[in-house]
Amino acid sequence: MSLDTPVSEARRQIEICNACRYCEGFCSVFPAMTREKSFADGDLTHLANLCHNCRGCYYSCQYTEPHEFALNIPAALAEVRQDSWERLVGPQVFAKAFHRSGVAIAGGLVIGFALLMAAISLLRPASGEGFYAELTHNLMVALFAPAFLLPLVAVAIGLRRYWAETGAPKMAWSDVMAALKQAGQLKNLSGGQGQGCNFEQEDRYTDTRRWLHQAVMYGFLLCFAATSVATLMHYLLAMEAPYPLFSLPKLLGITGGVLLVIGTIGLAWLKTKADPELGAKRVWGGEMGFIALLGFTAASGLALYAATGNAVMPVMLVLHLGAVATLFLLLPYTKMVHGFFRLTALIAEEAIKRRSRA
Ligand code: SF4
Ligand code: SF4
Repeated sequence: MSLDTPVSEARRQIEICNACRYCEGFCSVFPAMTREKSFADGDLTHLANLCHNCRGCYYSCQYTEPHEFALNIPAALAEVRQDSWERLVGPQVFAKAFHRSGVAIAGGLVIGFALLMAAISLLRPASGEGFYAELTHNLMVALFAPAFLLPLVAVAIGLRRYWAETGAPKMAWSDVMAALKQAGQLKNLSGGQGQGCNFEQEDRYTDTRRWLHQAVMYGFLLCFAATSVATLMHYLLAMEAPYPLFSLPKLLGITGGVLLVIGTIGLAWLKTKADPELGAKRVWGGEMGFIALLGFTAASGLALYAATGNAVMPVMLVLHLGAVATLFLLLPYTKMVHGFFRLTALIAEEAIKRRSRA
């Protein structure tokens, strides 16, 4: 193996950390590291996916440049992490293209899908209320089911490969519950002593990144819940959209949309403040493209609700549906995939710890 691959560089740095161990209490990476004496590629993939790029270890380290060891653990692990998503999910060419030209690809797909749906809406049914006057429910399901399920299958294959590569033992229900609890609180974003990250203000700790991540995560889950509840109401209770303001789909969707808009604007702002040298620099543009796509999807959903009943509603409908379709189709190749890998890494870590205790 060449000495300058992301994995070999991470191995060099992690071996120095494993001798030093000063940062042991910072995050779950260091306790996991101290289990090993040498690091296989799969061990480094696992450590990289436990790291959340808080940067605390960089600002505490006495071996960063100009020291000859030139340690930069956040960047080294970010490169391995990014590489693992691209390699394990595949095809790598899609992810690499998105990271080169994320805004152009996302924008082109949103407009392309919107135009396709606008063309289809010309064949709209003679009857139907609200959004269904533009696109039938069955047509929306036919378009969105594959756009939603196929990317999930690609991600599931990638996660299965992750599990095999890291050599994690069979998971138990208790591992899943423990990992879900950590993910639900974004516990690892709170730093070793609950002080937060060193992300946007160099060596000063703040909780801003954690709160904004919470807004995005719960905003997304609320929007997903809104769609799921609406689907159940449609099929099980024969209650068709549009729904009134004081209905579960609307309350969940509006709350989720507002949280997503706030969270994405905040995360984009933090990214402009953070030092790109402490992350995977090559994907900076793609990550910004993804944040913009997620924010636009939420904002267009809110705008669609505001436009219900007036002349711009059909335009807002195809733009919002185009954004949703693009978001899901690109899921395996954007930063969105990190949520799946992070949760899997937490479950794997619980399973590995359980095996060590046995
Ligand atoms: S990042 Fe630096 S200080 Fe922290 S464990 Fe590694 S070598 Fe030690
Ligand atoms: S950047 Fe933060 S999460 Fe990653 S290894 Fe360093 S201290 Fe841990």
